[in-house]
Amino acid sequence: MTNTTPASQLGDMPPAEFRRFGHQLVDWIADFFERIDSVPVATSMQPGELRSQLPQAAPFMGESMEAVLSDIDRLIMPAMTHWNHPANFAYFNSSGSSPGILGEMLSAAFNVNCMTWQSCPAGTELEQVALDWLRQLLGLPCDMWGIVYDTASSASMHAIAAAREHVAGLNVREEGMCGRPDVPRLRLYASEQAHMSIDKGALTCGIGLRGVRKIPLDDSFRMRPERLQQAISEDRNEGWLPFCVVATVGTTSTTAIDPVPEIASICRREGIWLHVDAAHGGIAAIDPGMRHVLDGCEQADSIVVNPHKWMFVPIDLSAFYTRRPDVLKRAFSLVPDYLKSEHDSKVENYMEYGVALGRRFRALKLWFVLRYFGAGGLARRIREHLRLAGMFAGWIDGHQEFERLAPVPLTTVCFRAHPKGIDADERLNNINDRLMNAVNASGSMFITQTKLDGTTVLRLVVSHLRTEEANVRAAWQLLQDKLNEVMAVR
Ligand code: PLP
Repeated sequence: MTNTTPASQLGDMPPAEFRRFGHQLVDWIADFFERIDSVPVATSMQPGELRSQLPQAAPFMGESMEAVLSDIDRLIMPAMTHWNHPANFAYFNSSGSSPGILGEMLSAAFNVNCMTWQSCPAGTELEQVALDWLRQLLGLPCDMWGIVYDTASSASMHAIAAAREHVAGLNVREEGMCGRPDVPRLRLYASEQAHMSIDKGALTCGIGLRGVRKIPLDDSFRMRPERLQQAISEDRNEGWLPFCVVATVGTTSTTAIDPVPEIASICRREGIWLHVDAAHGGIAAIDPGMRHVLDGCEQADSIVVNPHKWMFVPIDLSAFYTRRPDVLKRAFSLVPDYLKSEHDSKVENYMEYGVALGRRFRALKLWFVLRYFGAGGLARRIREHLRLAGMFAGWIDGHQEFERLAPVPLTTVCFRAHPKGIDADERLNNINDRLMNAVNASGSMFITQTKLDGTTVLRLVVSHLRTEEANVRAAWQLLQDKLNEVMAVR
């Protein structure tokens, strides 16, 4: 291949070339969005298939951008699961909206490191402003201070570290936890349906998986506050030190909303840090009619919501709020000489509030999305998702061969096929696994499963920006057609 890049010289791609390929790529993206309905949402590719088509080492001579971009269609597209597809109903699907993509592009162009105010004043101050706008939209109190982390997992890990720092006399920051007979075993509480990121946060912070006590659920998969109270009392009697409760607003499997007001009262009484994992579900509060999902969260010590889950901000951007930034800072602040500046007493240096020093200019895409859609536009889209999910749940409820397996407080519908005359759980699990694989293999929709008490449950999540009623109708039709096919093969 002839080398048309100036790789043999020094410096970057010339601006004229960047302009040409930049335009070409933006055109490609716009075409992709225009034709996305015709692209399979999930790939039929086998593990290792893409790798086997790619060279085992980087090219020595630079290649042309033409060659690189043509491989997107040839190699990368066939190996994609499309998260920006309107028929992606899997996981907590996330949408990269066009304004968000533009913000992301500009962030890469600036390529600033928002570790301190001085390292990029716009980075710090836009983060403060965009997070405060979002806080207001969520109805959180004005004493909630915000920071952007990459993911909810790391946000919750930071919350757990802050909760640990908050325990009087522990001084883990200076002394660590190992080999200290004066440190009791710390206990963290979360519901049986809490996200595994809470366990990961606990194990990262030296709490250990045995230090996480899972609280039983009510019939709607919500934490039972009286069982939380009982667990805390038992643990205190046995010498544990309860230090953190994590409530979930929108659990991953069913979007159950833990009773945060009751949990908050227990935490206040017991002097325990309350963190709320509202990664997906909290975003619903942007619709004023759904504010109640965050009831009680005004009393939390910290809360995380993920604009990259249901607010159309491209992954990754997680918004973390705490009423105790002083404690978070105490847990993480280290300021080496080479990062000090004359402004430090007057500014926020976000590097002091977490593990990461290097911080991308993520606030830009949040700001673009908030400004482009506006509070009203975001709320309208969330309301439409609620309507579509309610419609789908209604179809499930009205069909004799399907059944719903959990309440639908938000836009995740948990259901399964339950053909007449088949009641053995193992058989039903097998039918539903095959049904999921069949609809996913069609390339026309994508769903995932979970287990509730050992039962295979199919989850259909309506939260994609581009999902319309026609997509949900088509998904429902496909589920019924594929169930017939699955049942025809005995
Ligand atoms: N919390 C909940 C309730 C989730 O559902 C998820 C992921 O789906 C997470 C946390 C983790 O989110 P992230 O991928 O941003 O770490």
